[in-house]
Amino acid sequence: MFKTAGVRFMRGVCTSLSVVLLAGLLGACAHSPAPDPAGPKSWVVENVASKTTAELYADVIKPGVFERSSSKVIDGYTVESGNLLMPDKSVGSLVTVRSGDGGLTAVIEQPGNKGLLVINGKGDSRYTPFPKRDYSLPDTVVEDAKTVVPESRTSEGPYVIEMLIGYSRSAVEAAGGDAHANALAQVESVNLALRNSQVTNVSMKLVGVQVVETNYPLTPDTLSRLPEIFSASMQAFDPDMLYGIFSGHPDDSAVGWAYVPGRLALGYVYGEAFRHEVGHNVGGGHCHEPGGGYNFGFNNGKSTTAQCGNEAPYYSTSAVRDQHGLPLGNTATANMARVWRENADRLSSYTNLPSNTHRIALNLNGSTTTQTVNLSVLRSYQAGVVTLAPDQGPTTLVYAIAGYNRLTVELENSSGVKHTIYLRGERALGRCGWYAMNSYIGCQNSEQNQIDFSFKLTFLEADNPGLPSGIFNGALKMKARNLSGSWEVPINVLVSLQK
Ligand SMILES: [Zn+2]
Repeated sequence: MFKTAGVRFMRGVCTSLSVVLLAGLLGACAHSPAPDPAGPKSWVVENVASKTTAELYADVIKPGVFERSSSKVIDGYTVESGNLLMPDKSVGSLVTVRSGDGGLTAVIEQPGNKGLLVINGKGDSRYTPFPKRDYSLPDTVVEDAKTVVPESRTSEGPYVIEMLIGYSRSAVEAAGGDAHANALAQVESVNLALRNSQVTNVSMKLVGVQVVETNYPLTPDTLSRLPEIFSASMQAFDPDMLYGIFSGHPDDSAVGWAYVPGRLALGYVYGEAFRHEVGHNVGGGHCHEPGGGYNFGFNNGKSTTAQCGNEAPYYSTSAVRDQHGLPLGNTATANMARVWRENADRLSSYTNLPSNTHRIALNLNGSTTTQTVNLSVLRSYQAGVVTLAPDQGPTTLVYAIAGYNRLTVELENSSGVKHTIYLRGERALGRCGWYAMNSYIGCQNSEQNQIDFSFKLTFLEADNPGLPSGIFNGALKMKARNLSGSWEVPINVLVSLQK
């Protein structure tokens, strides 16, 4: 990954982005702390589950008109996004993430009104205005180290960038309590800006979320330590990119930090830091500087883009005009859409996991919890699940063992305190019964050619007396395979205990 060998500070580094080929750059946005003009507002929505999403955000987006451009169900949430067209011809954005219990996380972006709306399944509602941030002030750092660029694995798009987002516990609270919903909203803010900027060969996908106890400062040091801070999910999910979200700290030196180019970034929980910092990872500077290339954001006097001003849901491109008819980029000086297209292959190639890997989060609060993975296999298969490390569980298949295998997972908190937990692993094929997970006994009594292969992980209170308080995370790596070895599916689990 990144070696930190002597970091020197330097201003205006965006003018020399050609050196990026040899040296990884580090970019950040200057911090302009401003007093919060309006505090959060709270209210209660009756019968929240019976309300449409539009009814829930209607009052908050006035007088903007929502132009929805995407609606998808992701991880059980309905994720929607689009632009907000304002009477003064400015363009804002709205991203909504609706959970199965009727709760809503919505990020509103419009001039003079940017904020986070969170409504939980009981109807408790909170609107938190975002503090003002100036994303265009240069404040960048050069890192004297080579960036490891992954080998290209695909030659044609569309490319999917797998994103892992880590949070501090206090950042999750600031985000309204549902880290997964907030993470989906962050990722969608990038996908919306890509669509708006006509970048069609790449999109971003959330592959996991991890929460840690400590709220780290927004500094280059935290940036360099990010893979270590979120090591459990880095091991379990092996993403292309990692982003850390924190809730504010006295030592914060910027609203966000990012390698330019790179795969690691972090930012403040409130605001639109995510799309801006990720834009640095892609290879972008801030506003164009004399002598620079096309990897900059744009300010046309009426509208700004993510890298330069960050007041509207766009990456710079001359192919798109704003509501005033002015272009949002310049082919020679501000074409972040091109930088995205050119870096899509790199950004989607950092992961080493096969595409059929199952990434699972097993979230534990101390009470009995079960999670099942269902796969489809040929009925002739004799298949089971083994762990990759002998200290976690069985690494070889056996014919048939009744009951379960005991799995051992070492968890760790932010302070490096370790705690071992025990899980039970079982598997079943077709309509045949459950056996210990590493049993390969087949199940031929089916008329279907494809049958279900089920793998079950169980956390029992009785197996785990004396659980510590706090947040502990660990990785459990396994693979489902058949006896002949012709079929293999990695199953990677982030085990997270929050008590
Ligand atoms: Zn920046």
